[in-house]
Amino acid sequence: MTRSVDLVVVGSGAGGLSAAVTAAAKGLSVTVLEKAEVLGGTTAWSGGWIWAPRNPVVRRTGITEPAEAPRRYLQALLGNRFEPERVDAFLAAAPEMVGFFESLTALEFEAGTAIPDTYGQLPGAGTGGRSVIAKPFDGRKLGEAIELLRLPTRETTFLGMTIQAGPTCAPS
Ligand SMILES: Cc1cc2nc3c(=O)[nH]c(=O)nc-3n(C[C@H](O)[C@H](O)[C@H](O)COP(=O)(O)OP(=O)(O)OC[C@H]3O[C@@H](n4cnc5c(N)ncnc54)[C@H](O)[C@@H]3O)c2cc1C
Repeated sequence: MTRSVDLVVVGSGAGGLSAAVTAAAKGLSVTVLEKAEVLGGTTAWSGGWIWAPRNPVVRRTGITEPAEAPRRYLQALLGNRFEPERVDAFLAAAPEMVGFFESLTALEFEAGTAIPDTYGQLPGAGTGGRSVIAKPFDGRKLGEAIELLRLPTRETTFLGMTIQAGPTCAPS
């Protein structure tokens, strides 16, 4: 049987599914190909924190900053691998991406108001308010499709539940 679609996405991690959802929202027909028996890839095992400075979820908590600050941080971090055009594109698209997913999908975010940047000694490093994480989601809403989700690892769970840093959990 031959099937025709506008876009084929290979892989069902954050990269693949973000592309698939975005394309579908723009009206394209999409097929996602996944080689594993479950969905989610490495993303399903990750901490789930998304570094997206100046995003709307964080701004609603009252934290605002000019793009110059995270840009300075990335410049210090990346050194001679700093590519201004790509960094500026990322800094413009990251808040847009968060806004897109919270307005067009069932995904809701919590703001990491006290999650500092990893390299706090660098110029432009933030002390919180540049990250978001998905809010807890009632898996029962997925029905049988919940069986398709990759389970978390034994090392990161307690009694089957993922051990997770909350939005205000700053490392000591
Ligand atoms: C323990 C842990 C914690 C982490 N915490 C964070 C965090 O808090 N924040 C953060 O930003 N990053 C974190 N990371 C890193 C982050 O998880 C990865 O960078 C991210 O998930 C990569 O996403 P991806 O979509 O590129 O790949 P993946 O999520 O790995 O998805 C790739 C998918 O493609 C499939 N695939 C591969 N080849 C084929 C093929 N030929 N045909 C079909 N399917 C194929 C794979 O099976 C997989 O499902 C963490 C990583 C780990 C391991």
